Amino acid sequence: MTAPSPPRATVPFPARAVIDLAAIAANVGVLKQRAGAAEVMAVVKADAYGHGLVRSAQAALAGGASWLGVAQLTEAMALRAAGVTAPVLAWLHAPGAGFAQAIEADVDLGVSATWMLDEVAAAARASGRTARVQLKADTGLGRNGAYLFPVGTDSTATDWSALVDRARALEAEEAVRVTGLFTHFAYADAPQHPTVQAQQTAFAEAVALAERAGLRPEVRHMSNSAATLTTPAAAWDMVRPGLAVYGLTPAPEVGSSADFGLVPAMTAIAEASVVKAVPAGQGVSYGHTYTTSGPANLVDVPLGYADGVPRHASGLAEVMINGRRHRIAGRVCMDQFVVDVGDQQVTAGDEVILFGPGDRGEPTAQDWAEAVGTINYEIVTRFGPRVPREYAGAPVGAEEETW
Ligand SMILES: *Cc1c(COP(=O)(O)O)cnc(C)c1O
Repeated sequence: MTAPSPPRATVPFPARAVIDLAAIAANVGVLKQRAGAAEVMAVVKADAYGHGLVRSAQAALAGGASWLGVAQLTEAMALRAAGVTAPVLAWLHAPGAGFAQAIEADVDLGVSATWMLDEVAAAARASGRTARVQLKADTGLGRNGAYLFPVGTDSTATDWSALVDRARALEAEEAVRVTGLFTHFAYADAPQHPTVQAQQTAFAEAVALAERAGLRPEVRHMSNSAATLTTPAAAWDMVRPGLAVYGLTPAPEVGSSADFGLVPAMTAIAEASVVKAVPAGQGVSYGHTYTTSGPANLVDVPLGYADGVPRHASGLAEVMINGRRHRIAGRVCMDQFVVDVGDQQVTAGDEVILFGPGDRGEPTAQDWAEAVGTINYEIVTRFGPRVPREYAGAPVGAEEETW
């Protein structure tokens, strides 16, 4: 298996990310309810946003997802290697992507360009199979996807119509079958933004063009987490949430996790290493950007930027130790950072909670994102592969951990 899961530990690591699989399953249930009759594709790219690819995927399926979505083919193949048989869509490819293995493994291929479609068709012909492809339209994000809007005076020869026509021709020779049509929002976290309506209109046109050309997709989809939660009219046949599956709010301006009925699934915990009493005036960590203002207990926490604790969190983010919250003192280093706990008594080995669901008063990934000036996506996704994932709250039907 090629998933970036940590190897079986033979000695303990002094920190862990505890993943609440029951929360993942329940969050999918919330999204499914929002989606009405539409199916749920749980997006599990980037090691399931740092939560662990295979276990998170299984929990999402147990919670009612019927599809899985990933960016990279390596991620799709890791799911298949782990025995996951649910439909999987992978949508980000460069030339020479390994489409033959993906077709063999029954992975749906998201296709954004004619060259991609031709490579897929060549791989399908070589293996004597029909590739399952889903055509991706750029309805306004300006990222990947085939471009929908006419350029210059020719209002029909757009990238999208060329892709559709090519796909239809390849269907005729049974090299490909178009199983889906999809697109992605630019501004779904701001549901009133005019692009949200404009992209829905554009996608309806893209679908109509494809269907007029004779394509008969099984699924038409455009909604990420934010759209699933705030723009139900965009659900079509399937929604495609990622972040919300893990319980984090995709639209903090609109609502918190709790407002949306979501439970954050990751709790990041370290064990205090060295604890020592120092006098007033002690500079802390590289560059002494923090100095103790009185006699203080300093707690050394064995996680650093190599583990995804942002260096920008230096002096900004908070952690919770034995029920009390403290700000990081001085710079975050590669493997560790320091907390000034004042006169609080802390012992080596005590738990330092960086972030969690927040129900015990600990900071959340959203709090960290605000402290650091980024988004909650980045806080959990970058939580490093050196830190073991531990699974709790296994949903009914999930297998026991095997590694
Ligand atoms: C990442 C991604 C998603 C999921 O987005 P969230 O904001 O995490 O819900 C859905 N579709 C595509 C194409 C993506 O790249």
